[in-house]
Amino acid sequence: MVQEKKKLRIGWFTFSCCEDSTVLMTEILNDHWQEWAPLLDIRHARVLQKENILDSMDVAFVEGALASEEHIEKLKEIRTLATKVVAVGACACIGMPSGNRNQFDDHTQEEISFLTARFSHLPKVLKLEDVVAVDAKLPGCPMNEQQFIHLMKAMLQTFRIT
Ligand code: SF4
Repeated sequence: MVQEKKKLRIGWFTFSCCEDSTVLMTEILNDHWQEWAPLLDIRHARVLQKENILDSMDVAFVEGALASEEHIEKLKEIRTLATKVVAVGACACIGMPSGNRNQFDDHTQEEISFLTARFSHLPKVLKLEDVVAVDAKLPGCPMNEQQFIHLMKAMLQTFRIT
């Protein structure tokens, strides 16, 4: 019986942000699709496919900051399913610029309170590491293209995908 080749099981997730790293990632795939398609099992990436599955992953790429309890619960679930979690972009790595409202003065906080209440948002926007352990970071706003390519190659090596 022919054994199916092992692929790198990945997920791409987005929380509170502008999704520029998602756009960059799709642009990078334009250049690397031929090389990576046979090596990747994309379990979850809404920007790339309609059918998405939330199950075990080798690597979960997570973009954006956490603005609600719903985000926190989803991230915790991703953490339990993924061997490696990568924080993608400054919002995921340091909570900014998505977390700008954390720095508002009391008066401005009061002015936006009806919005945070309406959307059940947290009092403060959080970075990923405030909630779960992160294995690798791709800083920058958006992420650096070459660092993403380098990290993807490193993950393929780590999980012995050839
Ligand atoms: S880090 Fe910058 S590019 Fe990335 S989601 Fe945040 S604001 Fe957008």
